[in-house]
Amino acid sequence: MKRKGRENVYLPLSADVEEVIPLTPETSLFRVRPEAAIEYSPGQFFMVSLWGAGEVPISVASLGGGDGPLELCIRRAGLVTGALHGLEAGDTVWLRGPYGNGFPLDLSRGRDVVVVAGGIGMAPLRPLILWFLENPGAAGRVTLLYGAKRPEEIVFREEMDGWRERGVDVLLTVDTPAKGWEGRTGLVTALWQDVRSDLQKAVAYICGPDVMIRAAMGELFLLGMPEERIITTLEAHMKCGVGKCGHCYAGPRYICTDGPVFSYREIRSHSHFLTG
Ligand SMILES: Cc1cc2nc3c(=O)[nH]c(=O)nc-3n(C[C@H](O)[C@H](O)[C@H](O)COP(=O)(O)OP(=O)(O)OC[C@H]3O[C@@H](n4cnc5c(N)ncnc54)[C@H](O)[C@@H]3O)c2cc1C
Repeated sequence: MKRKGRENVYLPLSADVEEVIPLTPETSLFRVRPEAAIEYSPGQFFMVSLWGAGEVPISVASLGGGDGPLELCIRRAGLVTGALHGLEAGDTVWLRGPYGNGFPLDLSRGRDVVVVAGGIGMAPLRPLILWFLENPGAAGRVTLLYGAKRPEEIVFREEMDGWRERGVDVLLTVDTPAKGWEGRTGLVTALWQDVRSDLQKAVAYICGPDVMIRAAMGELFLLGMPEERIITTLEAHMKCGVGKCGHCYAGPRYICTDGPVFSYREIRSHSHFLTG
């Protein structure tokens, strides 16, 4: 990351808000332009702050690597994310990072990929899908299983149509259907039989509520997917983001620096990683 010689990990960079695009009633995509070029990869996160409100970890939702803005998909959850939702184009936000290990991309080489997302869990997985689309040789067939509570809570729905046209198998399901809904109804984990890949040979990347992550990881393991190829990214209450404060200490690891991306092998015997 080019940080103009800044060595203090607690010192944020400013970023101009270029655009705020509502995705659902509670979630918006923030396009921001940091004051210096920042490189990042899928699965990493930034500590995003607003003076007077506070600082929160938010995953990168864009692919990066080009001249485009950094994109952050933020759900209004409480104090800080609520204040972020008050931002408009022309406002300033502050960033520390990128932090975290990111997704192991090499794992997918020569393998089919199953991306399993629930709700806002699509945010960190979007750049992963974009990476597979930009690098067609990097994986075999890519399937997205995405579940939301209601159709209007599906994030990136129009973009998913484009992913489908570019070869991604996109399977959508909702808990509660609405008039005109033509997708599935029920849990995302009920969709395994519709995946056209051999799950035993594939790799899975999962993000969503804890209860969904726990179910998806366990079921894929029982279906024969090796535990080191079942990958997830975890959320935790964190403050510093750099392994100093201990807020996200889980068993033998820090979620901020050892993760937030872990394999099922790394976390299955540590119940404190997942609370749901
Ligand atoms: C690595 C990482 C990446 C994340 N990426 C995204 C993202 O891309 N988009 C997004 O919308 N959110 C993301 N989150 C979650 C986001 O950081 C929390 O929603 C945010 O910290 C809530 O802060 P707040 O001040 O708005 O809410 P608060 O007022 O602090 O809390 C509101 C509610 O959210 C709960 N909460 C607070 N912090 C967290 C947390 N870290 N994890 C789970 N629950 C929490 C509280 O217990 C409370 O119930 C990520 C979290 C982590 C750790």
